[in-house]
Amino acid sequence: MTLTAHAVVGVAAASLFPSHPKAAFAAAFVSHFLIDAIPHWHYSVKSIEIDHKDPMNTDMVFNKYFPTDLTKIGFDAALGFFTAYLIFHDHLNFPLGLILIGTIGGTLPDPLQFVYWKFRHEPFTTLQRFHKWIHADKNLDNRPVWGILAQAATIPAAILLVRFI
Ligand SMILES: [Zn+2]
Repeated sequence: MTLTAHAVVGVAAASLFPSHPKAAFAAAFVSHFLIDAIPHWHYSVKSIEIDHKDPMNTDMVFNKYFPTDLTKIGFDAALGFFTAYLIFHDHLNFPLGLILIGTIGGTLPDPLQFVYWKFRHEPFTTLQRFHKWIHADKNLDNRPVWGILAQAATIPAAILLVRFI
């Protein structure tokens, strides 16, 4: 999933525990894996060299694509924060702390993959194995229109969830 979808869903999950920051963070962190399990679309990140035989050998390399990839990922993270801020802080009046907990908790598992790729030690190995395991095998990468629409749909879905819980 895009970091934008993870940030928005992360804040919705965190909001289940508005007065328990640790539980809110845990809920946001767990929400990352739950929505990764749904088949989804990814934008291309060409500096990730996937090892199809052994996914645990996949790596992100500092090649000529890396700066572009980092820009895309940075833009996605910023878009996620601002979308979550506009919806949940400006519109629904959630405290800023909850927005931060939700966006950080919801997106953190992806930078932790990078930590694994560069460090390859526990507890990151186990987390990476779990992340790979739960991540949907099917993807919508060849169907970008549906893929993007499905990601966009996570936003109203997260808002509805928050409104009705
Ligand atoms: Zn993920």
